[in-house]
Amino acid sequence: MSTKIVVAGGGHGGIAAAALMAKAGLDVTVYEKNSANNMGYDWTDIFAPDALECIGLDMPDDDLFEYKTDMTFYSTNEKTPIYQDVPIDEREIKMERSDIYKVIIDHAVSCGVKFEYNYIVEGPITEGTRVVGIKTDKGDVYADLVIDACGCESAVRRNLPKNWRVQKSPRQNEKFYVYRAFYNKVDGFTADDKYKVCLLPEGKTGIGWVASEDEYTDLLIGRFIPFDLKEAQRTADVFRKNNPTLGTEIVRGGQFVQIPVRQPLSIMVCDGYAAIGDSAFMTVPIIGSGIANSFKAAKILAETVIGDTAHEYSAKTLWDYQYRFYKELGAGLAPLAVVKLLLTQLTPEQLDYIFDNGILTSKEMTITAKSTGLWDFFHLSPDLPKRGLAAIKDKELVKELLWVVKKIALVVTTCARIPKKYDRAAVLGWAWKYDQIFR
Ligand SMILES: Cc1cc2nc3c(=O)[nH]c(=O)nc-3n(C[C@H](O)[C@H](O)[C@H](O)COP(=O)(O)OP(=O)(O)OC[C@H]3O[C@@H](n4cnc5c(N)ncnc54)[C@H](O)[C@@H]3O)c2cc1C
Repeated sequence: MSTKIVVAGGGHGGIAAAALMAKAGLDVTVYEKNSANNMGYDWTDIFAPDALECIGLDMPDDDLFEYKTDMTFYSTNEKTPIYQDVPIDEREIKMERSDIYKVIIDHAVSCGVKFEYNYIVEGPITEGTRVVGIKTDKGDVYADLVIDACGCESAVRRNLPKNWRVQKSPRQNEKFYVYRAFYNKVDGFTADDKYKVCLLPEGKTGIGWVASEDEYTDLLIGRFIPFDLKEAQRTADVFRKNNPTLGTEIVRGGQFVQIPVRQPLSIMVCDGYAAIGDSAFMTVPIIGSGIANSFKAAKILAETVIGDTAHEYSAKTLWDYQYRFYKELGAGLAPLAVVKLLLTQLTPEQLDYIFDNGILTSKEMTITAKSTGLWDFFHLSPDLPKRGLAAIKDKELVKELLWVVKKIALVVTTCARIPKKYDRAAVLGWAWKYDQIFR
């Protein structure tokens, strides 16, 4: 029986899954709104290279990547830096996003995936309880399975019938509004910290980074509420005071984008539908890295689809993808969403206190895009009691930390109880409990 699989949007996970499925002989077409030579953003990304193995790719050629520089973190008062110290064998790589896309698209094409560029996906076509295709600006496309790789604000996910109970949009504090630009590098200055990350800069809930590269200085401003170009320019001027390498001329980028920073979607499969990557909120909630997780999820999704030899592609047969995703990745990511919630509640003074009193150390801040679980962030080190005592002096902070511990325990037990087999009532019940934790 010939079946047709459509990937809506050329997200990383969607393309990677498409390659694996096409290699197994399935008919897969990606519908992407951009043109072939305009995929991704004009900037670099950091990810763990071992994720490439999951999708059958080797380490990229040497001239396509370099190893990531360790970050230096600062709290609002910028008094106490915390230095990352990533072990050599755990270093992530930094690649141009356009090169990442070129590598995965070339691979997908060689596996037999077809690409249709300049198609805007407007929503799903549904019949009864099933997604049977996508609506595009160039007409309807029918398919036996639609893989939603349209990203954080996917038009497919957003337009699924409400009673299917798939969350349509991220809520407040679940999505990061980001401005990123590469500015000219001002001659005559050397940056003290090559990759400086400021938490709650100017006391505003969010982050900012200034990374000094050979050719330019990379500025990123991220907040939980939208902001405009004027505010981005004002903030850049504030950063320039302490970071004299940051010039005023934009040489690359200069765009506003959004990143999901939240727990993975509670229901990511329906009859004829599966979400992946940012469409299913698979980023590491604290740092917003999602490329490696999308590749890992692609492997699980492709194995599930290929394993469905009757080509049913129903919620029941696709459930194994969600189940395995939660067991292998989601159960580690979801508790981090609670830690992120804490970060949105801390005052600048509390954060300064945490930095200045050594409650957070280099160990915790050695966050990498490889970090997918809670214990990658919170290490049980011998000085933990001393650090704990330091925290206890601030009663409000203790309250916040206890709140987090309670929530994390709830998330961990809930994730452990994800139904192994698909039963609609059981799945809806589980998803409701899971979603409640983050309300
Ligand atoms: C500023 C910034 C920096 C980041 N840095 C890193 C990093 O260093 N490391 C890391 O691992 N992750 C990083 N991320 C996150 C990372 O980009 C995503 O998590 C990852 O790409 C997975 O998302 P995705 O590919 O599923 O979705 P997206 O990247 O959003 O891709 C969705 C695709 O679908 C297409 N599309 C969207 N809507 C439609 C439509 N209606 N019709 C047709 N096509 C459509 C888009 O054009 C795009 O090609 C960063 C994100 C941002 C914004």
